[in-house]
Amino acid sequence: MSRIAYVNGRLVPHRNARIHIEDRGNQFADAVYEVWGVRDGALMDFEGHLTRLARSLGELHIRPPMSDAALSAVVSRMVEINHIRNGLIYLQISRGQARRDHVFPPANTRPGIMITAKALNAQKAEARAQKGIAVITRPDIRWGRRDIKSVSLLPNVLAKQAAAEAGAGECWLVDPDGFVTEASSSNAWIVTKDDVLVTRAASQDILNGITRRTLFALAENAGLKTEERAFTVAEAQSAREAFVTSASAFVTPVVEIDGKPVGNGHPGSFSLQLRATYVATAKERARKPVRRQSVWLVAPRGERLVN
Ligand code: PMP
Repeated sequence: MSRIAYVNGRLVPHRNARIHIEDRGNQFADAVYEVWGVRDGALMDFEGHLTRLARSLGELHIRPPMSDAALSAVVSRMVEINHIRNGLIYLQISRGQARRDHVFPPANTRPGIMITAKALNAQKAEARAQKGIAVITRPDIRWGRRDIKSVSLLPNVLAKQAAAEAGAGECWLVDPDGFVTEASSSNAWIVTKDDVLVTRAASQDILNGITRRTLFALAENAGLKTEERAFTVAEAQSAREAFVTSASAFVTPVVEIDGKPVGNGHPGSFSLQLRATYVATAKERARKPVRRQSVWLVAPRGERLVN
């Protein structure tokens, strides 16, 4: 099955998908993105990711390329035509293509949009979670607006590479005061010895994960004790449990931090239970692709695309 990508209004074979060299996402990282997890063909936390996308665009004054309704239809269509049962949808919107200049291009410059779909092996992901991952830590050297889901990910790439080279699954990032902000591509959590679920408060220091928000609400509804506050690496190392959350990892237990075992060195029961609850709940609220016979989508460049 060949993969299909969506680029600036067109569905094209993945191998032929191209953007212009002067797309501002390419030259300035002047672009934002979103990632949806797909489980059993359904887009997890669909609305949450769409809302955060709008916020990221708004913070950077990038014009949305199309309405939420049209965007939702294209994203759903991508799940369908790529036959994704389990995997990810990646969506990126840039300030568009323009002659290279740091200053924003004219207001009528069309934003660039691209979407790709990737199938993942759900059993492998589940096995990884059941085993738990080791994490390492590194100083957080990112810019001051981590709440915006910008494609400017070089520090995150370097952190994840350091983890890979150390045989770890993630890298936790640490602020100058010694407190964990989040991980290179996920939010960081601990469960204290008193069974309190702790994650750093949402601010410009972290990306407010959609999985993080959903899980926090789920935990509160289930009557668990929760706290939004910063914690140090030492506190995490001596915590009962630790885990990370993201659209792709859901809830993944952390069993080792910088070589020190967390708890008994095995995934904690809270973490595994939260994972199961998250997956079940998010699936209930997920958006299933709607099969339609012939719906016209208006693409960003004015072309029409048959859905
Ligand atoms: N923090 C960072 C730095 C991330 O890249 C991600 C994943 N995009 C997250 C947190 C988790 O966010 P979400 O739950 O929305 O995937």
